[in-house]
Amino acid sequence: MIESLLIANRGEIACRIIRTARAMGVRTVAVYSDADAKALHVRQADEAVHIGPSPARESYLVGEKIIAAALATGAEAIHPGYGFLSENADFAQSVIDAGLIWVGPNPDSIRAMGLKDAAKERMIAAGVPVTPGYLGADQSPDRLAAEATVVGYPVLIKAVAGGGGKGMRRVDDAADFADALQSCQREAVSSFGNTDVLIEKYILSPRHIEVQVFGDKHGNVVHLFERDCSLQRRHQKVIEEAPAPGMDDATRASICDAAVKAAKAVDYVGAGTIEFIADASEGLRADRIWFMEMNTRLQVEHPVTEEITGQDLVEWQLRVASGEPLPKRQDELSIDGWAMEARLYAENPATGFLPSTGPLDHLALPDHQRIETGVAERDVISPFYDPMIAKIVSHGDTRIAAIEDLSIACKQVECEPVKTNAWFLARLLDRSEFKAGIVTTGFIGEHIDDLCSQPRPSNALLQYAADDIAFVDDNMSAPWGSPIFELTKARFGFRLNASPRRDVSLLVDFVPESVEVGDHAIWNDRARTSIRDGAATTYFEDGAAFVIAFRRASGAAAGIAADGSILSPMPGRIIAVEVAEGDAVAKGQKLVTLEAMKMEHSLVAPFDGTVEALNAVVGGQVSEGATLVKIGKLE
Ligand code: ADP
Repeated sequence: MIESLLIANRGEIACRIIRTARAMGVRTVAVYSDADAKALHVRQADEAVHIGPSPARESYLVGEKIIAAALATGAEAIHPGYGFLSENADFAQSVIDAGLIWVGPNPDSIRAMGLKDAAKERMIAAGVPVTPGYLGADQSPDRLAAEATVVGYPVLIKAVAGGGGKGMRRVDDAADFADALQSCQREAVSSFGNTDVLIEKYILSPRHIEVQVFGDKHGNVVHLFERDCSLQRRHQKVIEEAPAPGMDDATRASICDAAVKAAKAVDYVGAGTIEFIADASEGLRADRIWFMEMNTRLQVEHPVTEEITGQDLVEWQLRVASGEPLPKRQDELSIDGWAMEARLYAENPATGFLPSTGPLDHLALPDHQRIETGVAERDVISPFYDPMIAKIVSHGDTRIAAIEDLSIACKQVECEPVKTNAWFLARLLDRSEFKAGIVTTGFIGEHIDDLCSQPRPSNALLQYAADDIAFVDDNMSAPWGSPIFELTKARFGFRLNASPRRDVSLLVDFVPESVEVGDHAIWNDRARTSIRDGAATTYFEDGAAFVIAFRRASGAAAGIAADGSILSPMPGRIIAVEVAEGDAVAKGQKLVTLEAMKMEHSLVAPFDGTVEALNAVVGGQVSEGATLVKIGKLE
């Protein structure tokens, strides 16, 4: 058995590998870039080696530095994780040439599956069904257009060197083919340095089904059943599950056999995934499932397979790399229940999934599910790498049980000030179409507006917040306004004195809102925490965070006064001033950006005009209701 292992990766997958290695008594060596000097995988490993600056191209992607780190620390083997160098055949070869063990397939197997066209040729030869299309060497635009017509529209143009959802164009009509081809080739050359494309029949009602395979160095190959990864956004997986809904035994046997055949055709060793595309217009049928590509590494979504089979795939990898035979025979593997994984990202679905980087000042992940993460509270989501926070994995007796469990878990996520997609994941899991198991890869795209609309606090939360905030405000000087009383109140949500019905003005994520409050508002138990920071409180509900502040009725109301004065909606700090006195501004133009509760809020011109007065300087603290800018209306 390998005694020491260098992990050429970071984040959750590095932590995942360390966990199993440690359980097996294998010494672990982490590598890290500048940005990751204090990262969780570095803290967890037995040893860690700095390999360069933050950009991956100067650290995690530099094979020589990684091999040198392994040699310097006496590591016997290198595990590449996924992404980075994991599917780089030349790197795998260099590892082997340096006398180290490569925890992965032979470089030749990686090469055989590296280009989509060559891989498809191999699969056709091995008798594996592939998506109908054109794989020819003749790449002239005329020939490609003619082949597209033979395949029949709609077609998909795919860069042969593509990956990660890049380098693909759907074309519905022959008239659009030439333009789509050019744009696909432009992307292909800039991302992969290779303009070659193939043409495939575009599958309507496509579902993404993949089969986990495993080979050892003794010629054995088994499969560990299928996963369904049809919930995708722009060809990126969002929620994955195992097994696939609607899969009958005969269809499963057929695709799993095809997957084993595919792996054997390239003498596969280690963990691999055969991805298929299914035309699900009439459910899953063996004659409508085609090979798409092979991923020659451990997949992000491997935990769902582990959950239904009870196997540890990282342990399998380390055993196989050490030369042991596969831990189980095919007839010793079976499916237990249903597993589901959601990818929790630091991104904001309401703003087109913009990454939300920064410090994780508050991070509470659900505690009754399997969590795979590479960060902890107070760590930072850096702009240099994939902004994944965690994978949340549920396992239940039935599919519905797994869905409901995962939905609850996503709703429990609390993160601040970094924004997450937790509420979006919960919305997806709660959709009846998903529960019915009939979604295709287009589902998210088709429902994007509903799924991504800005979440709103529930009425119960607004009532509670109004009551909470007004109460504190009323009792600032009263003895029960003390911190201890505050804590009790926050925990149990009770009030000593019932206040009469009245309207309370709030700012909810900076937007003024009036809430009528009666007696003690009870916020239901979906909520767990609230964090008070000066004038504002962050409440967490259903995977979203809401910043709510009391809007003082006295003095000038925050917002925009009729005379063109722009008032600060809450106390905060000016972080940007976009205009100068005397400037002409157009309606909607950004004037000043304020930061409060670590959220940025831009104040914009209410109408076309000129800046008559400016009372904002970058870095300046402003109080609520302060006049920041005065705009004179154009006559
Ligand atoms: P990548 O290597 O970039 O991941 P894939 O070939 O695996 O690209 O395809 C990624 C996704 O694109 C699939 O999961 C599927 O959703 C979609 N896709 C691929 N091929 C087709 C096709 N022929 N018809 C419809 N959708 C497809």
